[in-house]
Amino acid sequence: MAKQQAAANAGQAPTENYDVLIVGAGISGVAGAYHLRQQCPETRFVILETEESFGGTWWTHRSPGIRSDSDLHTFGYGFKPWVGPPIATAEEILSYMGEVIEENDLDQHIRYQHKILKADWSYEDSLWTIEAIRTDTNETVRISANFLWMCQGYYRHNEGYTPEWEGMTDFKGRIAHPENWPDDIDHAGKNVVVIGSGATAATVVPAMAETAAHVTMLQRSPTFFRTGRNAIEIAETLRELQIDESVVHEITRKKIMFDQSAFTERCFAEPEAVKDELLGQVRELLGPDYDVDQHFTPSYRPWRQRIAFVPDADLFKGIAAGRASVVTDEIDRFTEAGILLQSGEVLEADIIVTATGFNMNIMGDIAFSIDGKPLDFHDTVTFRGMMFTGVPNLAWVFGYFRASWTLRSELIAAFVCRLLNHMRETGATSIEPALRPEDKNMPLSDWIDENDFNPNYLQRALAILPRRGDKREWQHTQDYWREKDEFPAIDLEDEMFVYRGKARSTMAAE
Ligand SMILES: Cc1cc2nc3c(=O)[nH]c(=O)nc-3n(C[C@H](O)[C@H](O)[C@H](O)COP(=O)(O)OP(=O)(O)OC[C@H]3O[C@@H](n4cnc5c(N)ncnc54)[C@H](O)[C@@H]3O)c2cc1C
Repeated sequence: MAKQQAAANAGQAPTENYDVLIVGAGISGVAGAYHLRQQCPETRFVILETEESFGGTWWTHRSPGIRSDSDLHTFGYGFKPWVGPPIATAEEILSYMGEVIEENDLDQHIRYQHKILKADWSYEDSLWTIEAIRTDTNETVRISANFLWMCQGYYRHNEGYTPEWEGMTDFKGRIAHPENWPDDIDHAGKNVVVIGSGATAATVVPAMAETAAHVTMLQRSPTFFRTGRNAIEIAETLRELQIDESVVHEITRKKIMFDQSAFTERCFAEPEAVKDELLGQVRELLGPDYDVDQHFTPSYRPWRQRIAFVPDADLFKGIAAGRASVVTDEIDRFTEAGILLQSGEVLEADIIVTATGFNMNIMGDIAFSIDGKPLDFHDTVTFRGMMFTGVPNLAWVFGYFRASWTLRSELIAAFVCRLLNHMRETGATSIEPALRPEDKNMPLSDWIDENDFNPNYLQRALAILPRRGDKREWQHTQDYWREKDEFPAIDLEDEMFVYRGKARSTMAAE
């Protein structure tokens, strides 16, 4: 307790202590809270959240048309049926999360407007001490917790990634990023250029095209999309048969996951056939005269970047109707009236939307230290993409790209609860993964193989992400189908887990 006493003397003592502190009240943090209540009812926990409400991504994103690009049967939780159409608006997702919070009495655990800035682990006290700033009062708050559950998402909220283009300040119209959408922007009757062609652009373009004079989607290179009805046949059939919603949810989830897995396998096994199918859909919607090769044929193999689902083909219908168009070119510079392209073409605009992606933030921009020594996560090796060598009592949630994010949030939640119960039963005060003797000479590489998945925001962040080894235990995979069986089978007494404070003789370190 010497350290705590010293901190107290310096007026920096934590005012509260919990067993677990969850960072973030997005879909992952709320999943964590639910599972703690269910599986570790004795655990005292708190969630700290920067924003003034829950929802994370779905709270902070306000641009027109904002919606999920994967289905809500699997993006929603396993424990609460999703009863609406599979692709949902931010508002619908927030309302679903609100019900989860209310039904499970989770609100009492959440502190809004608390932005965590620092976290320091003390081996002596087996505690993380976090320092947060209250965004409403500017007051500094210090809270200690034995276990830190990082549900902070993967990008910096309210500060999207916008490249610097020459002449941006010359532009006389408005520039807006979907991550900090201005309340007062009115696009009705205006010419809009949306820079980018990822999932966000694919939602902003058709939504703005409904009332804008014209929307141009300007891309440097094309993206793959999938499209279809915003409905899932098996769910419709089961509902017609008046099957209970919880059963509809379970069967529909299984069917979607089965189909997704088969699709992912095909992307690796027969990428050309999948590519032909995806492009065939687009050709059918845009007609024989449309230049699909130029505007919708990426150079990478399907699934190397996320494939957004376009419900009811609204993006393509907007293009076919002439309300929206696609330009594939590079920006030379911004001008007073719009954008000059490298081809010499000029795109006139009243509004330019920079749907240019994220700034990844690995750990919520929190300055981490261990016994006062700054921690660089790039010096660590990831244990299955959820813990890190040499970092005690910390779990990190990073979901799937090729399946719904939440599937992994819940797998990790189940693992963390099992781990916390194991620690409670054995009296352990800390756990950290460590390389075993057979891992010592293992080659280490970047967090994710760029041949596997390589969006730009990830490439920009590899130097600050943890590293991976050449065995599955030391890798973050994108494989729900294997992880769903592997995670529950993780042996908590494996020698890769170093415990401290255990009362039992199985302890690996004291
Ligand atoms: C527009 C958009 C659409 C998407 N659609 C899908 C989709 O359809 N399917 C899918 O699988 N994925 C989708 N994603 C990815 C999506 O971000 C995740 O699926 C999911 O919402 C992430 O949830 P989360 O709770 O892990 O993180 P987030 O939603 O990012 O929430 C993290 C929370 O932590 C808080 N926080 C962060 N740092 C701190 C700190 N230092 N102190 C206190 N609080 C902090 C944040 O304020 C935030 O509220 C989408 C992403 C975007 C941007």
